[in-house]
Amino acid sequence: MNLRIPGPTPCPPEVLASMSKQMINHRGGEFAQIIARVTEKLQKLFLTKEDVLILTGSGTGSMEAAIVNTLSPGDRVLSASNGVFGDRFAQMAETFGAQVTRLKFPFGSAVDPQAVDKALKDDPSIKAVLVTHNETSTGVTNDLASITEVIKRHGKLAVVDGISSIGSIALPFDKWKCDVLVSGSQKSWMVPPGLAMVALSSDGWKAVEAAKMPRFYWDFTRAKSSMKSGQTPWTPAVSIFYALDTALDMMLKEGLSNIIARHERLARMTREGVKALGLSLFADEACASNTVTAVKVPEGVDPKKLSGTLREEYKVVVSGGQGPLDGKIFRIGHLGYVNDADIEDVLNALKATLPKVGFTPAAVRA
Ligand SMILES: *Cc1c(COP(=O)(O)O)cnc(C)c1O
Repeated sequence: MNLRIPGPTPCPPEVLASMSKQMINHRGGEFAQIIARVTEKLQKLFLTKEDVLILTGSGTGSMEAAIVNTLSPGDRVLSASNGVFGDRFAQMAETFGAQVTRLKFPFGSAVDPQAVDKALKDDPSIKAVLVTHNETSTGVTNDLASITEVIKRHGKLAVVDGISSIGSIALPFDKWKCDVLVSGSQKSWMVPPGLAMVALSSDGWKAVEAAKMPRFYWDFTRAKSSMKSGQTPWTPAVSIFYALDTALDMMLKEGLSNIIARHERLARMTREGVKALGLSLFADEACASNTVTAVKVPEGVDPKKLSGTLREEYKVVVSGGQGPLDGKIFRIGHLGYVNDADIEDVLNALKATLPKVGFTPAAVRA
């Protein structure tokens, strides 16, 4: 199968092999060495000198962790959202008692940094801003550098979901002055689901000290103090640590700038290929993501039949639309362990599938 969804993403054979190792004592010396190594390698790829915590959980767990560790009930929070994951972040903060102002942007377009600036001017009591760097539900990458510039100019906390960007799209944590940044192992990192990474700035840690939302499993203070002795507070996903150790070596060998360039190239190839077939892109191309491409389901085409044919006849698995986009778009993931041949395969499969589901591709029509 050519698994072309925006996570879980395929894993290299070396990574899969590394997971077949026996369990070890997670409170022993060998694990302490692994966690130290993995953390150091993550810092290189996050481009940060700050702490990177590794939690056992999915990306959503790390989003919840970011909220409960940096906010208090009643805190005023601005959510800048242009999709399903941005909305999820806002809903989580509300669930734990924050007072959330929702600044919404149309699905398929980007968060406007000037609108964030205005919202922060209008309500100086806002303490933190929640923003999604790469909105996986719509295939849009936000201009995070400009957004965090605005947030920090106002002296607020920048809480960033970088789950589907960091490790494949440029996101220098220190340079862009992020305060809290969350990621998940099954996206850019070429390993199975199970681990979530969180980077924190000094302002981020100050917020942790002041935050009063209830937390136990996700407590960053416990995670940091355990890390000093080469441990995690609770039993970690040991096999995913093995996998991450191997995958990070592969990533550092390829080099971050080469990885970013590869994603840029494959995303362009995907967009151009899709358009050449006569299909329309969902997202504004000026802010189109380099990790996921959202494509409109053409008029008269049954989205289930489209994805079903791709899967059953051509062994290509794509994602559907989420929430309000269900049935309206399909999404092609191109992040992590992906190369030209994978994208060519998707485009060929689409070309063959479209006439079978009642759409004549432009290339065939011509
Ligand atoms: C995948 C994803 C999530 C959710 O992560 P899970 O691991 O599925 O919990 C959140 N935000 C973004 C931007 C994502 O791409």
